[in-house]
Amino acid sequence: MAGKTYTKADDGVMSVVRYVLTHHHQHLVDLELRVGVILVESDGDEPAIKCHGSAAAAKIARVPLKRRLFMPFDVLIEVDQSVWGALSKDQQRALFDHELTHVVPKRNRGGLIDLDVDGRPKLVLKPDDWVLTGFRDVVEHWGSAALEAQAIASVLASPRSDGAQGLFDFLVPRAAQPQTARGCTRGAHAGVA
Ligand SMILES: [Zn+2]
Repeated sequence: MAGKTYTKADDGVMSVVRYVLTHHHQHLVDLELRVGVILVESDGDEPAIKCHGSAAAAKIARVPLKRRLFMPFDVLIEVDQSVWGALSKDQQRALFDHELTHVVPKRNRGGLIDLDVDGRPKLVLKPDDWVLTGFRDVVEHWGSAALEAQAIASVLASPRSDGAQGLFDFLVPRAAQPQTARGCTRGAHAGVA
């Protein structure tokens, strides 16, 4: 039976987490968010990490209150070790940026961060802005009427928040080619990626 090996991330991996936190998630630094990272290696055919039934590069989960009493982390990120080793530095940063973007501190009605009984901030994991799924066969049968084709077209047409250009303009020369979304880091949403 296939098994998995779990390794606590070393300082090289954690330095990437710190880089992403300080450059893109200062509000989480201010909360002194405690991030644990585990590298997962599969020794069989099963993917090291699955989310929503599909293979994922990484996933994040909140550490529940009862476990937080025994482990000093607010969130745990699991990363597929073989994927990690094949990523460029920017891809590694983007991977952690993705996972950390799921993390949203809860606020009370007064706008203040809501704290749990142990004094740690209450967190929610927001869902991805998009999750693309579909079947090649269905697009072949139905073309633009296939909902998965419409979903891909709609994501590709996403505007940038500054309105300057399309979010995915850098893909245009290759837009007709199939892209492998190895991302989900589609998340381990609470169980999520
Ligand atoms: Zn995600």
